[in-house]
Amino acid sequence: MTKVSNEMKEEGRFRFIADAMPHKMWTSGPDGRANYYNKGWYDYTGARTLEELRIRIWEILHPDERKIAELEWPKSIAAGNDIEIEQRFMRLDGEYLWHLTRVCPQKDENGKVIMWVGTCTNIHEQKKALEALKISEQHFKALSNNNSLIIWQVNENGIITYVNDTWKNFTELDLDAQLMVQALDAVYPDDLRGVIEKLRNDFLARVPMQAKFRFRKMGGQYRWMLSYANPIYNPDFAGYIGSMIDIDDQERAQKATRQLLKKRDEFLGIASHELKTPITSMKASLQILEKLSQVELDPAKIRKFISMANKQVKKLTEIVDDLLDVTRIQSGKMQLNLINYLFQDSVKDCISEVMQYTIGHHFVIEKNEPIIVFADRTRVEQVIINLLSNAIKYSPDKDMVVINIEKNGNDLKFSVTDFGIGIPQDKQSFIFDRFFRVHESSQNFSGLGLGLYISAEIINRHKGKVGMESEEGKGSTFWFTLPITN
Ligand code: ADP
Repeated sequence: MTKVSNEMKEEGRFRFIADAMPHKMWTSGPDGRANYYNKGWYDYTGARTLEELRIRIWEILHPDERKIAELEWPKSIAAGNDIEIEQRFMRLDGEYLWHLTRVCPQKDENGKVIMWVGTCTNIHEQKKALEALKISEQHFKALSNNNSLIIWQVNENGIITYVNDTWKNFTELDLDAQLMVQALDAVYPDDLRGVIEKLRNDFLARVPMQAKFRFRKMGGQYRWMLSYANPIYNPDFAGYIGSMIDIDDQERAQKATRQLLKKRDEFLGIASHELKTPITSMKASLQILEKLSQVELDPAKIRKFISMANKQVKKLTEIVDDLLDVTRIQSGKMQLNLINYLFQDSVKDCISEVMQYTIGHHFVIEKNEPIIVFADRTRVEQVIINLLSNAIKYSPDKDMVVINIEKNGNDLKFSVTDFGIGIPQDKQSFIFDRFFRVHESSQNFSGLGLGLYISAEIINRHKGKVGMESEEGKGSTFWFTLPITN
């Protein structure tokens, strides 16, 4: 066979292969002018001849890419460089489809270009899919970054691969190889073991995770967090995607509510006990009286039990009055009936009142300045009686209570000192709170924990001050001031 017919056979084979390829292809001489297009190009453009196709190719190239090609193609021809570029070519129906164009120069042994071979691969679908993915990723990021939820993702090996901006703003920690270690380091030490165990077990079992723990926020403050996560499959297990939200305020509110409910229950327990005791003794007195009235009529004996029953009625009345006072204070309905009176007289009356119910104590008045005050006498006496009664009640092993009435600048200062059990340092700041009792469930000292709260309210309404100093085991001084009007 001759050399010419061999070459023809070779070219036929090349054309066959080139036409069978799913890509569009062309060749050109060193000057860049096309001298061959495969069938793919003819089918795509509808052109029938080489001449037609040479013009058509530039016409169907998208104007944006055409501008670039017109600039870059001559440069590449001159330099003999490879080209790889994405371009849109218009299909017969008028739609532009994305193509990946690659052009390679074939060079002789001296490096001189002898021909150019170009291929164009339709990448439209991939490009669209990628764009859609990018858009959905952008949507996801916008969504995930613009809310208060922390969002995180770990891969199938448990390595954190994504955290949203909320996380970065919350923790100041950024995505890096050490992130998991740093994140666990931010878990409150007492919660850490539980969290690690739970995460590990759920991860290995590929089940949804849920955990509540304290986590260190930027600035060092620990906050209660709630984290949920679900396994993801792609289609094989590909890790977890999870969220974490700051529930600290809700946790605190819940805790406060629980404490309040506990306090309420405690109060109900104490109140029932306090009410039951006088009722029981009253009942006993009345039963005895009933029996006595059947057998004998000794007025002295009968008076004794009537007086005992009355004592209990007084106790009950006091408890109910305290409860009513609290309601009045809470609803802002405590009325004051202000008058001018000599404070000393009032204190004397209170001492006499309290002395009726104590046998073991005596009162010593150290300073006794005569001072006129403008106040609600009944209410202020209620405060004085409460302080004197407490002084006696909380110093069962001592017998002296010291009282001082003195001028302190423009105020009157009244103080009561006992030498009793005193109040521990850490409890002192709560002493004027509603329902507060140092020995909450103590049976030794009866009371509802309302007296000092009511007293403080009464004095505050008079624009006075209340206070105390105390040492555990040594005694306490409770005092209040009232502004002097004259
Ligand atoms: P209570 O009815 O319980 O006595 P208060 O409001 O008068 O209620 O007092 C509140 C609590 O303060 C008491 O339960 C007691 O623990 C403590 N307290 C009050 N006065 C004294 C005092 N003089 N010495 C020691 N503790 C006192």
